[in-house]
Amino acid sequence: MKNNSIFKYQKSLFLGLSLCSIVITLNGYFLYFSYEQSKRSAEDRISRTSYLIEEWVKGAFKQSDYVLRDIISAVDVDELQLPTLDAEKHERRNNWLVKKRSTITNASLVALYDKNCVITHSPGNPKAKGFDASSRDYCHKFKSSPSLDTWVTSAYVPKGKKQLHAAQFRRFSSTSSELEGLVGFALNLNFFNEWVTRLKVPPNGLIGIFDTNSNLLAFRSNDSEKTSLKVNDLILEKLQSIHTRHTLIHQVDLSDDKKRLVSYRKINELPFIVVVGEADMDWLSDWKIQIWISLVSLLIICYLIIINATEHDKVLRQRDLLSKAANTDSLTNLINRRHFNELAIREIQRARRTNRPLGIVMLDIDYFKNINDTHGHAIGDQALIAFANACCATLRNIDIVARFAGDEFIVLLPEISQNNLLEIIERLRLAISEIKLNVGNDKELRMTTSIGISWAIGNGVPKLDEFILQADNQLYLAKQQGRNKVVMHD
Ligand code: GH3
Ligand code: MG
Repeated sequence: MKNNSIFKYQKSLFLGLSLCSIVITLNGYFLYFSYEQSKRSAEDRISRTSYLIEEWVKGAFKQSDYVLRDIISAVDVDELQLPTLDAEKHERRNNWLVKKRSTITNASLVALYDKNCVITHSPGNPKAKGFDASSRDYCHKFKSSPSLDTWVTSAYVPKGKKQLHAAQFRRFSSTSSELEGLVGFALNLNFFNEWVTRLKVPPNGLIGIFDTNSNLLAFRSNDSEKTSLKVNDLILEKLQSIHTRHTLIHQVDLSDDKKRLVSYRKINELPFIVVVGEADMDWLSDWKIQIWISLVSLLIICYLIIINATEHDKVLRQRDLLSKAANTDSLTNLINRRHFNELAIREIQRARRTNRPLGIVMLDIDYFKNINDTHGHAIGDQALIAFANACCATLRNIDIVARFAGDEFIVLLPEISQNNLLEIIERLRLAISEIKLNVGNDKELRMTTSIGISWAIGNGVPKLDEFILQADNQLYLAKQQGRNKVVMHD
């Protein structure tokens, strides 16, 4: 009962706390989805950027490939011979090749090779003429794969140069599977750097282009301390596999301890890898603001909910205390006459409706004035309390006991036969006569009570006033018959 009433006055608080936890959970879900959304957007952004760079690089190599095709269509395979038969023609061809090469800004050298991979034309580098490249990788590749038309090498630094280059070759087309000749450009890869420096990079982001031997060809970052980038061997291996051309990794960069989402993209048919990274601190910055806003809003909402709930509980408690005070007699703690009337009217209606019996009893302490006069008002009060306690102890839980006025009490007993009523009330009369109150000087106070009863059943139960009057009349008779008596209405 006690726990129940504690819960009763904390109901709003519990509801408030539950509401808070629902709001916190929903907010948690919202933040989680918003995090996932931000991550997806960042992944899309870096994937798109790496895709654009791939297209860019492919476009550049396609452009030089057009010139290589041009050369192949203009040069007769018979010209690919050493020693040179016609020196003048050879010179004209060399000049023409230089012109062709100059249409590609990044091409530093152009060379023609015969069917054995020996350089026949090398304008700009005459020493290379006659150089036998048959042991070079690219020569093996063209010889071993007749279907291979074009090939770009990994980066290398040519003799006497500082910048990284790549060589781009195209096979002289032929109907046989034998190699008839090659044309190749040496391309200065510095244009990668020029490109990426023009790109917009987030504050802690980075862009890099590697070749498949993990040589860094171009690098862009806003952080002046971050000047280099490495590509992990495992990733490199993964990207070289047939199925994986693109992979996204969320990793901590050991060089600056920043966690980044990084897109690695192997450029199709070219030996290059594009790396685009965006740091968590950049793509999560909006989300972090969201966290702060939700945290503060949550605190305010929960604070208001809890304050409101606590206030509501307080008001409920006060309302109940007030209503209890309005219904209770402060001396005996029994209900008062006003509240008794409310309950009694309901009981009378119920007895009539259900055709059940109902008893009403009026009790008045005999010669109570004398007790007050002899022992004082305080002892009189104690006597009233002891009287009320005896009533509660003797009567049943369902009986409604109230202090009616002064030394007068009233009891309503539902669901009781006439005989049982008489029996209980007689027991009560005896219990009261047995009360012993210590009044000092080893003296004990005793008291008796006169009792008037009325009993009725179903529709026979009168209105409350009438019912009380009947019992009161019997009380009067009991007083008249000498007191300490129970008289029942006939
Ligand atoms: P009777 O046997 O005829 O009932 O005689 P009585 O002396 O008991 O007379 P009555 O019932 O009329 O007296 C009631 C007295 O109860 C009057 C009043 O002084 C006293 N009284 C009423 N309320 C209180 C109270 O709260 N405390 C105390 N100590 N006395 C009260
Ligand atoms: Mg009295």
